[in-house]
Amino acid sequence: MKRYRIPFNRPSFAGPETRYIAEAIERGHISGDGHFTRACHRLLEESLGVHKALLTTSCTHALEMSAFLTNCGPDDEVIVPSFAFVTSVLAFTLRGTRPVFADVRPDTLNLDERQVERLVTRRTKAIVALHYAGVACEMDALLDVGRRHGVPVVEDNAHGLFGRYKGRWLGTLGVVGTQSFHETKNFTCGEGGALLVNDPSLAERAEILREKGTNRSRFLRGLVHKYTWVDQGSSWLPSDLLAAFLLAQLEARATIQGRRAAIWRRYRGELTDWAAEVGVGLPFVPAHCEQPYHMFYLLLADGAQRERLITHLEERGILAVFHYLPLHLSDMGRKYGGREEQCPVSQDVSARILRLPFFNALTDDEQGDVIAAVREFRG
Ligand SMILES: *Cc1c(COP(=O)(O)O)cnc(C)c1O
Repeated sequence: MKRYRIPFNRPSFAGPETRYIAEAIERGHISGDGHFTRACHRLLEESLGVHKALLTTSCTHALEMSAFLTNCGPDDEVIVPSFAFVTSVLAFTLRGTRPVFADVRPDTLNLDERQVERLVTRRTKAIVALHYAGVACEMDALLDVGRRHGVPVVEDNAHGLFGRYKGRWLGTLGVVGTQSFHETKNFTCGEGGALLVNDPSLAERAEILREKGTNRSRFLRGLVHKYTWVDQGSSWLPSDLLAAFLLAQLEARATIQGRRAAIWRRYRGELTDWAAEVGVGLPFVPAHCEQPYHMFYLLLADGAQRERLITHLEERGILAVFHYLPLHLSDMGRKYGGREEQCPVSQDVSARILRLPFFNALTDDEQGDVIAAVREFRG
């Protein structure tokens, strides 16, 4: 693998991570739901005003729990954007549910709410709203379609923790929201996630699913004398060591988000005139959306121009990456009937998007180098 002077991502540390991990060891509880897990739950519940937060081993696993909680089964359907991460849909297909791919809006790159209603059928069990780059989907419209057809909306909020839609926290608008604490996200513990449960009637089942299909949580609260197998489930709770690491990051949220806001604004401030001259698109954030500054992307004229920019940056030791090959045209997507013409915007954006290095520990000098290198590129 090539070495880059400026990587796309580098994990950063808030400070107290190792001290908190040492404390978890000293406390003698390193399995799930210990002191630090409870502290993370409290922090998320209080800062977001969410009914129940449950740490999970990944966002993927929180999505798998969402598939259970929305009763997605074989022969059912889930509506997902084609321009999305693999597990936004895999969590549902794992249960035999058929994906119905919808296209995204060309401005925010989010699930196009105007296309969703005509994709709803008798079999639709869930709509997955992925807030791309942490910029909210048009939730009022999506929730309205969901309400009229009795279909719950699941928020894949992996990018969107502490982002808002019309003043409301992302992840708290659908029946459930899912978070990721993977190394590439704003807050991390290496691998990790959370399920935000907004519909109180789903809370107890969520606890059971996460605890291997048992009512262990009720047992720990002293509500039953013995715990036993009561439902399906798996082992979706992380070690308290990971929660200790994560708590250090979540406690530093003001600093981390402040730094990320500064990085994002500098990219936009110093690339806007260049983008206009070269004909490159920059991220669009509607006025009613407050983004949590997860990423900064460019929309090049076409795939060939993107290749030229990647090479140009690589020659200067800078790694820029792109993602989300349209799901409907993937090998699996085609098996589910994905067709060439189905989601033209997803296909188009996927071929032209490029993400610039963006991480909490990106230094001013490094960012200055990235900006200078991009500005040198004339198309
Ligand atoms: C990162 C990501 C996931 C998966 O997160 P994991 O914690 O790695 O499972 C899911 N959806 C989106 C949109 C993501 O960006």
